[in-house]
Amino acid sequence: MAELSRRRVFLAIAGTLAILAALELAQSKRGPDPGSLRVTRTLMGTLWKVEVMHGGRVEAANHAMTGVWAELERIDRLMSEWKPDSPVSAINAAAGTWVDHVPGELRALLERGTAYSEKSSGAFDVTWKGMGGLWHFDDRFRIPSAADVQRAIGNVDYRALQIDGNRVRLTGPGMAIGLGGIAKGYAIDRAAAVLTRAGFTNYLVDGGGDIYVSGMRGDNPWRLGLQDPRGERGSLIGAIPLSGKALVTSGDYERFRIVDGVRFHHIIDPRTGWPATRSRSVSVVAGTAEQADALATAIFVLGPEQGLALAKAESVDVLIIDAQGKRHLTAGFAAIFETL
Ligand code: ADP
Ligand code: MG
Repeated sequence: MAELSRRRVFLAIAGTLAILAALELAQSKRGPDPGSLRVTRTLMGTLWKVEVMHGGRVEAANHAMTGVWAELERIDRLMSEWKPDSPVSAINAAAGTWVDHVPGELRALLERGTAYSEKSSGAFDVTWKGMGGLWHFDDRFRIPSAADVQRAIGNVDYRALQIDGNRVRLTGPGMAIGLGGIAKGYAIDRAAAVLTRAGFTNYLVDGGGDIYVSGMRGDNPWRLGLQDPRGERGSLIGAIPLSGKALVTSGDYERFRIVDGVRFHHIIDPRTGWPATRSRSVSVVAGTAEQADALATAIFVLGPEQGLALAKAESVDVLIIDAQGKRHLTAGFAAIFETL
């Protein structure tokens, strides 16, 4: 671990306070870093960390950081399915009827979401939330009956999400959208844009382990660690150097329950209504965090064979750890992957 710390590995793992402790430990081991401003905050139900190499522009970095949090809060108000007054909640509450004056930014994201559904034969589907009442991974967790799943799956179909001018409609009254598989990636990209606009070129934006990195960290490229999906939190299977790209991981170990040896987790196969079974974790490297986020979820559902095909078609790099623990990598991922 000391070696890792010297090599400045960031843990690309989900955000909890325990993980924050792990990160802080790594930070203190490698010593203070005079040239960077680093702030963590909990937002959108996850831990965010932003690090900006300020090059002496401390005031400007602080100001940009304030802009980052404001932007993340704005996106949360726009895209949260949990905030009752968000435009997403308005669409869900009105399911079956049209909603007028849906903000263009949200409509654009929904359109891009639909494009990912088409590319992934429905493996990625923001209308997964039509099942939402059946799957909770908190103290409301229970295993639904096969009949309940069968019924609820009738509420899941991206083709029944209609966009017409500034209006949006879910055709079925029981339908709902949930942007958990794509909105965080979008938010990471928007946060990065705030920093770029403020004139910073070297920074990291980490939303719960989904990361975009720009430029360098001092004299070194950013190095991101990859969580072992069956290891302790913080135990890594490898690391990659990255710049000007996003690394997003979807895993079955982030929110789950194990009942009688069967793992139930938060990535739902929209075609069966049950948690997807073909992967343990999928890490995607792409030009934007949004693309990496949506494709990580899609590829997780598709599994290694179709997942690799989708990654190649979309020109992104991926590491898939399948249900048996076997690794499948694109050539580009293999070229940068370092086993530890
Ligand atoms: P995380 O949110 O843990 O980073 P993902 O990006 O894989 O992981 O997103 C999982 C979330 O996406 C779920 O919590 C849920 O909100 C939503 N979701 C679940 N299944 C799907 C699916 N098949 N397509 C799109 N979104 C999904
Ligand atoms: Mg995702």
